[in-house]
Amino acid sequence: MKKHNFNAGPSILPRVAIENAAKAILDFEGSGLSLLEISHRTKDFEAVNNEAMALFRELLNIPDNYKILFLGGGASTQFFEVPYNFLEKKAGYVNTGVWAKKAIKEAKNFGEVQVLASSEDKNFTYIPKGYAIPTDLDYLHITTNNTIYGTEYHTDIDSPVPVIADMSSDILSRPVDVSKYGMIYGGAQKNIGPAGVTFVIVREDLLGKVSRPLPSMVDYRNHIANDSMFNTPPVFAIYVVKETLKWLKSIGGVKEIQKRNRAKAELLYDAIDNSKVFVGTAVKEDRSLMNVCFVMQEKYADLAPEFLEFAKGKGMVGIKGHRLVGGFRASIYNALPIESVQALVDCMREFEKMHVK
Ligand code: PLP
Repeated sequence: MKKHNFNAGPSILPRVAIENAAKAILDFEGSGLSLLEISHRTKDFEAVNNEAMALFRELLNIPDNYKILFLGGGASTQFFEVPYNFLEKKAGYVNTGVWAKKAIKEAKNFGEVQVLASSEDKNFTYIPKGYAIPTDLDYLHITTNNTIYGTEYHTDIDSPVPVIADMSSDILSRPVDVSKYGMIYGGAQKNIGPAGVTFVIVREDLLGKVSRPLPSMVDYRNHIANDSMFNTPPVFAIYVVKETLKWLKSIGGVKEIQKRNRAKAELLYDAIDNSKVFVGTAVKEDRSLMNVCFVMQEKYADLAPEFLEFAKGKGMVGIKGHRLVGGFRASIYNALPIESVQALVDCMREFEKMHVK
């Protein structure tokens, strides 16, 4: 049976990237060695690393004064590396859910943290707007897509201080004006590659301003000076990033993927909005184009386990909602084809017909 992969992350990747990675695992570029066995200090791997960075720069239109890093540790490591490198006195954070909260918790170890706005009052079903951003902040931290709650910023915000954004789950899903950010970071395991590599895009002139001593591995400048090879980089994961970015370029880049992502999200949200059984959880204007969260309408709440089983029987994978939201979450990242969304919509309609006369 064909599987439709709605996993929230690690999640679906372009088939061609997986096939090329499989070939490279058996024989890396005709070297007779596996990609898993090569030294990162070889010309061939340097070429992979450079190509991945160049494609990232091209696809997201990253200006030259921003450096791209591929690091270990996941986005969660960035939760403390960001304040380590940037928080001298005071930083502003917007609390839009679990991941934002974790970032806030870590930052508090380094200085004063002002939570400028929060959507916790409504279980993070919206993106707070209209709050003032003090001009004396070292930076403002936001989470552009809230993977668990299915909310997303749809525009780059204006800020008098550098914006640092966790874009783990919407990077490269739409064009972004990188020049409006001080730094963008995220775990790769949704739109860019497999688990095991973290991307950082940082405006170089903002570094080196804090007075505390930085451990070498934490100091972004060391990674910049060594093209992300200050220590052993996640070789395999970077290879798959390169292949995934190649695929994105081949289909027309970020503008094209935004078009496809909009079409997929519209198809699914329309089905939810026109359903008598299902209802979306996030407010319409802030709905994520990456993670579509929905629950059973109250009258049908008892049917949730039955729908999960029904959907599983039709090949749907990973649609159980996060325990903090309940219900269902369909993650419809870049590599997920619209056919999979259509299959889910058909499955929802069929289920509805069985229960609503
Ligand atoms: N930030 C967001 C928005 C996420 O969705 C996740 C994981 O799903 C994380 C941070 C944590 O990433 P990692 O597991 O790479 O530390």
